[in-house]
Amino acid sequence: MQSTHTMSLEVLAGVLPLKDRFWDLSSRLLIRCEVMNPLVIENFERLVELQPQTRFMTVYFNHMSQEITPARYVPTYVNILDIPESTLFFDTSMQAEIRGIPDHLRSREIPKIFTSKYQHIDCLKMFYTDGSRISEATGFGIFNNNFSISLKLAEPASVYIAELAAVHYSLQIINTLPPNHYFILTDSLSTIAALRSKRIDNHDPFFLGKIRESLSNLTRKCYKFTLVWLPAHCSIAGNEKADNLAKIGALDGEIYERPIAYNEFYSASRQRTLASWQTSWDNGDMGRWLHSITPKVSTKAWFKGLDVSRDFIRVMSRLMSNHYTLDAHLRRIGLAEGNHCACGEGYHDIEHVVWSCTEYREARSQLVDSLQVRGRPIHVPVRDILAYRDPLYMELIYHFLKTASVKI
Ligand SMILES: [Zn+2]
Repeated sequence: MQSTHTMSLEVLAGVLPLKDRFWDLSSRLLIRCEVMNPLVIENFERLVELQPQTRFMTVYFNHMSQEITPARYVPTYVNILDIPESTLFFDTSMQAEIRGIPDHLRSREIPKIFTSKYQHIDCLKMFYTDGSRISEATGFGIFNNNFSISLKLAEPASVYIAELAAVHYSLQIINTLPPNHYFILTDSLSTIAALRSKRIDNHDPFFLGKIRESLSNLTRKCYKFTLVWLPAHCSIAGNEKADNLAKIGALDGEIYERPIAYNEFYSASRQRTLASWQTSWDNGDMGRWLHSITPKVSTKAWFKGLDVSRDFIRVMSRLMSNHYTLDAHLRRIGLAEGNHCACGEGYHDIEHVVWSCTEYREARSQLVDSLQVRGRPIHVPVRDILAYRDPLYMELIYHFLKTASVKI
């Protein structure tokens, strides 16, 4: 409804407020310019001397205070297509083989499948790799019968970068071993997908280029490689050990130096932007009903990924924002004389309509039946249903409103 506060709409739709978006985009631009267009930074430096008072200078001072120092590095243009197919294999067959195994059986069944597939391989040729992020620290681990590696990455870092670092480091170790067929095992599908990709991007992470380079060099020296995907947290011993080593690396490891690409600083900027949005949402005066239902802001709309109609989204969003066409709200914005229900027994709000108004007995009996059949409680406050986003209750309430012809 038009009366809904902009801030509520932003939270419902997962859209960054304009002010925060301005900061986020400006900050990204300056981060990018540090490497791609230093002239912009130089000009800002000259402006600092002239001391103009504009909001662009505030943005620049903020940028400087973050001490962002991205590295400029030349990407390696080794294409995975140039590596002979007979020397490099990707094995993601575990994905299909574990499909459909119920959760409670995974830890028992998956290790068995894994063993039957890979037990013939000499364990000295197997390198389990993993990345981990705990308490805002990132590390990686490698487990092999002869090597246990735990290292930490300088921030900003992500699990993905750590996974790549682990594969890269494994190749460095393998480089010191005689040529043979080696297996690198990772639980990161995105790592395998990135390595398989034929596209080379100037913004590829540093380790991705380095891995391609090593694979190309080593395969020319008669090494062979299979990159195996295995599922995480399924009691596969090697993976568990690599996971542990990665955690130790994140907490206590020595820093493994690397150039940090400018785009790796973006997520920190996004985190600051989200924190600023969160502060405005927590301290605002408007939309407090919605705040009690959705205290945490997110760039993901509440309905994202749900298979529901546009009208369902509209009705639920109105109920969440507490701006809907029942008299309890219409009275607040001066569009209704009173805020009591025509039945004479309460406020004309959603709570009353759904659970107690005598007008809707018939539709309500359907609602109550549907809940009782499923053994679910009735008279659950609508506010709680919306706060927990319980899909069954939301669907049933929507159905009730349609059956009872209540316009929201
Ligand atoms: Zn009523």
